[in-house]
Order: sequence, then C-alpha cells, then structure tokens
Amino acid sequence: MDYDVVIVGASIGGCTAAILYGRAGLRVALLEKHRNIGTAKRLCGHFLLGRAQAPLQRLGLWDDMVATGAGTGDLSIRTEYGWTDRSRVDAPPFLNVRRTTLDPILRGRAAASGVDLLLGRTVTGQLTEGRRVTGVRARLLDGTEETHTGRLVVGADGYRSKVASLAGVPERFTPNGRAFFYTYYRNVRHTLPTPAVVWWNDRDWVVLGPTDGGLTEVAVMPAKDTLPPDLTDHAAYIERYVASLPDAPDLTRAERAAKVVIAPDYPLIRRHPVPAPGLALIGDAALTADPTPAPGCTWALLSGQWLADATAPALLAGDDPAAALRRYRRAHRAIEREHAFMRGDAEAGPPSAVQRLLREAAVHDPEVSRRLALVGMQVAPTTSLLNPALAARALLVRHRSRRRSAGRAGHAPAV
Ligand SMILES: Cc1cc2nc3c(=O)[nH]c(=O)nc-3n(C[C@H](O)[C@H](O)[C@H](O)COP(=O)(O)OP(=O)(O)OC[C@H]3O[C@@H](n4cnc5c(N)ncnc54)[C@H](O)[C@@H]3O)c2cc1C
Repeated sequence: MDYDVVIVGASIGGCTAAILYGRAGLRVALLEKHRNIGTAKRLCGHFLLGRAQAPLQRLGLWDDMVATGAGTGDLSIRTEYGWTDRSRVDAPPFLNVRRTTLDPILRGRAAASGVDLLLGRTVTGQLTEGRRVTGVRARLLDGTEETHTGRLVVGADGYRSKVASLAGVPERFTPNGRAFFYTYYRNVRHTLPTPAVVWWNDRDWVVLGPTDGGLTEVAVMPAKDTLPPDLTDHAAYIERYVASLPDAPDLTRAERAAKVVIAPDYPLIRRHPVPAPGLALIGDAALTADPTPAPGCTWALLSGQWLADATAPALLAGDDPAAALRRYRRAHRAIEREHAFMRGDAEAGPPSAVQRLLREAAVHDPEVSRRLALVGMQVAPTTSLLNPALAARALLVRHRSRRRSAGRAGHAPAV
C-alpha cells in the first residue's frame, strides 16, 4: 500500500507521531510486530517525567492516563545530605502508569486518529530508490509478506531498531554502570513528603512512587560493581537496600505484588535521527537513554512530536521533506545534548564535586533545589546547572550551612 508516512513500531514514539500525522490529514501506516493491541513493553519502569505532561495533554491522553489511577504529583529528592528544599519547586507533575495500561490506550488513540494500525507485521526489509528509503517489507503471522511505501519512513522500533540496521545506520554504544531492578508492592505505608521520592545515595539511585492498580513501584539502581557476586534473590536485595535508606518505608511489612524485573545491562545507544533521505528515527531508535533518570518515554513523546510538527506541512503540500527533516534534526539536538551528560553519569562513578555541591546546597536553598527539580523533570537543560551564578550561590549556601552546624557543634567549620 502507498502512504504518506510509514511508521514502524506502535509504542510511545510511533503512536505519538502517528496520531499527529493522522490529525493533520496524512495517510499513515503504523506497523507493529505484536498481533495484540494490548501487548505492552515489558522492560520499562514507566515513570514519565514532568516534561511529558504537555505532549500527553496535546495528544488528549493526560486526563485518560490519570483516570486509569496512574500515579501523579510531586517528587522529592533525598540526598546524602537530607531532603532537598521543596518550598519553591514548580516543576510539572510526574505520571507513573504501567505499560500494560499505557500502550493499549496509545494504540487505540492512534487507530482513532485515522491511522492504519497494522498489527502482526514484523518489518524485515526495506525498499529503496538509490539512497532514498521508500518503504518497508513486513512479514505477517501466516508467513506472507506485504510492502508499504511512503514519502517518509519512520523507525520507531526501539533500541534494537531493525529499520536502522536495514539502512546500515552506524550506532554508538556507551556501557551503563548501573543495574536496574524494579517491582511493585501493595499497602506500602509511608510518611514521605510527596507521592514519589528519589534517593540519591552516592552512586546509586532508588525511586519509589505510586502507579495504577493501587500499587507502589520501587526501583533500585545500584552501581553494578557494588552488587553481591552471588545475588539471586532480587526481592530481598531491594527490601534490604530500601531498609538502609533514611526515612524509607519498611517494604517487608507491605505485600509484594509482582516478580522483580531485572535489567542487569542496558547500554546507552545513539544513532543519527535522519540517517538517509526519506528516513527518520524517533524514540529509542535514535537515542536510547539511561533508564535511571528515566527520560526514555518522555523523549519518545517529544521526538515523535518534533518529527510530526516539522514534516507534516511539507508532506501535506506534496513537497520533498528534506528541509523539514533538517528542522527535526535541529530540534532533536536538545535531547542529544542531554544524552551526552547522561553518558558521563551512566558510568556510575562517584558524584563529581559539582554534583556533591548541588546535592548539599539543595537541602538548604530553595533556588538550587528548584533548578535541580526542573532538570530532573527534563523541563530545563542540564547546562542550566552549570551556570557560574548558581555555583557561587551553592558555594555560599553550603558555607553558611556548614558554619551554622559547626556553630551548633561548638567548633569552627572545615573549609
Ligand atoms: C529497565 C528499563 C526501565 C525503564 N524505565 C523507564 C522509566 O521509568 N521511564 C521512562 O521514561 N523510560 C524508561 N525506560 C525507557 C523506555 O522504556 C523507552 O525509552 C521507551 O519505551 C521508548 O519508546 P519507543 O516508542 O521509542 O520504543 P519502544 O517502546 O521500545 O517500542 C518499539 C516498538 O516497535 C515494535 N517493533 C520492534 N521491532 C519491530 C519490527 N521489526 N517490526 C515491527 N514492529 C517492531 C515493538 O514491538 C514496540 O512496540 C526504561 C527502559 C528500561 C530497559
């Protein structure tokens, strides 16, 4: 079949782009290898950062997600130095919704936007004219093949992107120094300051937050080289780890509601988002992020939206989308820069001097804390933390707070 846009992968990135193209009046094929609309991504902590709120609202999905009982609200950070000051934090709320709930709603919304949602199609080949990618070949469940052509082909098929590999797109891997374990509990009693909490514990992260189904999700992301070599009981590991954290709830008194999901090794991957004429990559296919700070779903929403916004007018007008794809590339650079910072952090080395300074100052100063929260929710770029005025403020705050504590303890502060 001939379409304006052929999108491979009906998950967050693919459905976002498909819905927006469909609304613009373009003819869209959305191909998905799973045959069932409800088959969800298994490996995903599904914690959507505040930056995801605007694209979800635009898709008309925010209220639907909240209505599923998804967790939403504010998030607090507990650093090694104490709770960060939340008195001026104005970041948009997180959304935490399991993929078994999110994925079918997204696909249903795509199908309702005039898109041909073609389930049970595994893309196995690509069609080209010279260097231009013009379509894909898909295998159906009965072994037969279909071809779908379009003026734009979009790889939204995740971190192992078949579309990228068929086009011979170079990929760059960065190892991840942390492992990722998560599970769900019922009846978690706690007196935490906000619905969701992150503990920054030296090199490790722990996140606890409500999700749909009346569950509390707990994710532990330790530096791999600190893991016990004989670790087999990951649930006991999570519970022991959380018990060692300040102010954390006692999970052994709650009821674990699922097996632990384990991602021992999840490298970061980069591919060019516009690798060939007629071809664009979005979501994990272009940038696979570190799951620890959890930007992946948010970036999939954003990149799907940026691509559709940049290219829909040219496609509607029947123009070559090359210039529009360059605009998509420029928009995408914002998250490529974030990915660059993330690659350093994914090494899971000890916090840098700047990170330690900000973690400590944020406990005492609402402005430093506000900036950290905005970056954590991906609403502000990481570079906003590297501002000399903020560093000077953090140094002063830290100096004063140490002087106060030294005064209370009756001796002079260490400088
Ligand atoms: C352990 C772990 C925890 C994570 N936790 C979080 C988190 O808390 N918050 C967050 O924001 N992100 C998290 N992520 C990342 C997040 O899951 C991804 O960034 C996000 O799912 C990317 O969406 P996507 O649409 O780009 O691709 P995907 O969700 O990977 O979807 C790709 C789609 O393409 C389909 N497909 C693949 N190949 C083909 C083919 N050949 N033909 C047809 N269809 C195909 C797949 O079936 C799938 O539907 C986590 C990831 C991991 C591994």
